[in-house]
Amino acid sequence: MKMQPPLAPPSPPSLDSIITEFLREQHARCINPVTTCPPFSLFTPHRCPEPTQRRMAKPNFSARLGGRGLYPRHGGVDRGGLDRHLIFSRFRPMSVFHEGDGDESGFTCCAFSARERFLMLGTCSGHLKFYNVFSGEEEANYTCHTSAITHLEPSRDGKLLLTSASWSDRVIGTKDQVAHIYDIQTGVKTLTLNDPSLANNYKRNCATFNPSDDLVLNDGVLWDVRNSRAIHKFDKFNMNISGDFHPNGLEVIINTEIVSSHS
Ligand SMILES: [Zn+2]
Repeated sequence: MKMQPPLAPPSPPSLDSIITEFLREQHARCINPVTTCPPFSLFTPHRCPEPTQRRMAKPNFSARLGGRGLYPRHGGVDRGGLDRHLIFSRFRPMSVFHEGDGDESGFTCCAFSARERFLMLGTCSGHLKFYNVFSGEEEANYTCHTSAITHLEPSRDGKLLLTSASWSDRVIGTKDQVAHIYDIQTGVKTLTLNDPSLANNYKRNCATFNPSDDLVLNDGVLWDVRNSRAIHKFDKFNMNISGDFHPNGLEVIINTEIVSSHS
């Protein structure tokens, strides 16, 4: 009687076979599998190289730039995408700006100052803050609005800054010698500034708020908006324009004259 040799128990899978099977499965999913594969890695999923067309942009930036005027036209297909990827892949966060203690209203918009020395940030509470770009310190804090600042727009020479808020603010309109103040949120006319006995009758009168919005210059007359009272009538220096507030908020410019608005 012949003894059957006992069947060998199935050998446990080796690490090598597990890895080989794992990588083989990845290769099986390749759309254009190649015979000689590039080296596999356990850290990045394997993908066989896509076949490149002659018209595709070159992956090397210098080659792409140099060949821009030659065939293929404009440096090749998807040149813009490759260029954008090159540029944006090099952006890195440089510094982070936090609000100071006690003010947790949050930033709503930002802009660089002229020459990029300061980062200007508008807040939910209507404040405008200046941060030193190099030190990260808060160096100035202005109250501009009573609601969130929605936009900051510095002038090209960097001397002026326009701040915008979406509500609880007013706009002033002029019709001849009469100035009307409207509430932007409700669209209702809230105040009319006109006193015929004080009129200067400028030809191109244009009423304007002062920087803190509590005074109005209309037809050469200074008004206190809070109690709609005429404060002062300035001398008339020309026929056309009644003047404007100096950006420092304390003076009025009329023709070539600068006069104090806090007399
Ligand atoms: Zn493959």
